[in-house]
Amino acid sequence: MSELIIKNLHVSIGEKEILKGLNLTIRSGEIHAIMGPNGTGKSTLAYTLMGHPNYIVTAGEVTFNGENILEMEADERSRLGLFLAFQYPVAIPGVTVANFLRSAINARRRAKNPEDKGISIPDFRKMLKEKMELLKMDASFAGRYLNDGFSGGEKKRAEILQMAALKPAIAILDETDSGLDIDALRIVSEGVNTLSGPDLGVLVITHYQRLLNYIKPQFVHIMMNGRIVESGGPDLALHLEEQGYDWVREKYDDVPAGQELAS
Ligand code: ADP
Ligand code: MG
Repeated sequence: MSELIIKNLHVSIGEKEILKGLNLTIRSGEIHAIMGPNGTGKSTLAYTLMGHPNYIVTAGEVTFNGENILEMEADERSRLGLFLAFQYPVAIPGVTVANFLRSAINARRRAKNPEDKGISIPDFRKMLKEKMELLKMDASFAGRYLNDGFSGGEKKRAEILQMAALKPAIAILDETDSGLDIDALRIVSEGVNTLSGPDLGVLVITHYQRLLNYIKPQFVHIMMNGRIVESGGPDLALHLEEQGYDWVREKYDDVPAGQELAS
């Protein structure tokens, strides 16, 4: 069993503190959702967990199976079994989705054993075909250049395929940066629903209130102003769907609305 534990996490971008004491534990086999309005620090959490250099951890700790990951490079985190969407957000013209996946698998294998010759092409093709069928993806997708002109939904499709191929212990999936993209959320949710099981823990991050139409998390967390302010089961997501975020803002937001917009 794998376990990601986030304790009292404080993160700043430049001079500005964005995460203000966030606590969360995710174990393999569990599906968690973090929901919260725009600007509350959801993506900051995802970027921090993936080790983005602009996000400075000023306090708190993050451990994966007991190891402090905050000092590790992104690829080291990935090798441990942590999967972070947006790990490779850039478009790579000339590198197909399939080639990218094969390199990622081989890098992982070589990290474990420098003598490893890499996955054979027939084995790779077979695995890729199986995963794409499982995820109901069109075979032609594997031949496209990674993220080159991809829509939000296609980027998510590439991520889910990467997740299927790398078989992480814990995966963190943030919504697209383009904001509310139902197509992307649907792709992520179908992928998570298909791939989830006792060996996979998932954190889905979204501000979309009707989340339960797509995914059935056991744990739902509401984030506000850099913290998780409420945690519960699917009933919490249902409550958000009915009530929106206003009650959360009233209860927990100590930042004046104008100030948030100006940031
Ligand atoms: P969410 O994903 O919940 O919408 P973000 O984590 O993207 O929120 O942003 C949280 C806060 O951090 C916002 O106030 C945003 O303006 C600020 N922020 C995000 N990225 C940067 C950055 N690169 N530089 C400065 N401020 C940033
Ligand atoms: Mg975001």
